[in-house]
Amino acid sequence: MKAIVVNPPNKGVEVREIEYDVKSIGEKQALIKTIANGICGTDRGIVSGLLKFSRPPAGKNSLVLGHENLGQIVETGSKVLRFKKGDYVVSIVRRGCGKCSNCLSGRQDFCETGEFVEAGIRGLDGFMREMFIDDEEYLIKIPSEIVDVAILLEPLSNVVKAYNELMQTQRRMIWWCKDGSYDCRNAVIIGSGPIGLLFSLIFSSQNFNVTILNKRDPSPIELEIARQMGANFINIKKESISTNIDVLIDTSGHPSAFIPLLNKLNKNSALILFGTTGGEASEITAELVTFLVENNVLLFGSVNASKKDFEDGVNFLTVWKYRYPSLLNKMVTKVVKPEEAPDVLYAKPKGEIKTVISWT
Ligand SMILES: [Zn+2]
Repeated sequence: MKAIVVNPPNKGVEVREIEYDVKSIGEKQALIKTIANGICGTDRGIVSGLLKFSRPPAGKNSLVLGHENLGQIVETGSKVLRFKKGDYVVSIVRRGCGKCSNCLSGRQDFCETGEFVEAGIRGLDGFMREMFIDDEEYLIKIPSEIVDVAILLEPLSNVVKAYNELMQTQRRMIWWCKDGSYDCRNAVIIGSGPIGLLFSLIFSSQNFNVTILNKRDPSPIELEIARQMGANFINIKKESISTNIDVLIDTSGHPSAFIPLLNKLNKNSALILFGTTGGEASEITAELVTFLVENNVLLFGSVNASKKDFEDGVNFLTVWKYRYPSLLNKMVTKVVKPEEAPDVLYAKPKGEIKTVISWT
């Protein structure tokens, strides 16, 4: 079958035929036809050879790329209970080490050994191929009402995890407003890529005041998306933020983007680090450390997501599709055929929010 294949840690990508036995379905497995894959920075990092932790499955020298996925079940094993032929599904990405308490409790996103594998990233073939077999336990059911936006579920699941972590951790004190809502809290999101916009959506729909930051003016699509969700969009090179910040989320990975904003953090506020990049250094002063200490500022990094976060994401997508009509569809700015994937994997299309590979 046709697949999009990489050879990490070497750079490069090719669309080619691979051998795959679609008949070897286990009792608790399903054969899935790929509908679509999303492309993200991780995929481009692997293709460019910069993402050094990417590796093929054990004993192989190439890796099928792709972790953002949407598929449809073609056939199920005899002991599959929750799915049937024709169901739409999203496969979760990380598979646990089978050793640590978190992995043995469905929280492989908090794996303690680091011996997990991730589809299309490290140690496990991904979803950029015509078909694949997966275990029932790793599948998320997609209601037919949201099939058109479900390609956003995988990136959203990571955002849901970070949001859930924040809300749980902020129970360290009273953080809600006097009326019991979060209307008085300001969320500032650095970056307006798909992750930045999904963070903006989750905070907007929970009635935080949301400001999206970038180093440039918004594109017309970004402006329309921000307007629909009621968020401000600020070009930080032209304008400064007028409010204090209760939760600051960095999706850029650039210390120079978030460190200058830390002095705007309110008491008992939080900084969530989500983006990663290479090469940049920035100094943290003792005065800043004192400020963070004196103000009980919470700082955490967040990666990956649990199956429960995917399931919560399904509910968010369902609500948002009707609350913000056409907003989620607008986030998909380009759809390409598998044969065209190398072009958009080597270079980001202009004005991209999310580029999707369609297999149908
Ligand atoms: Zn583990």
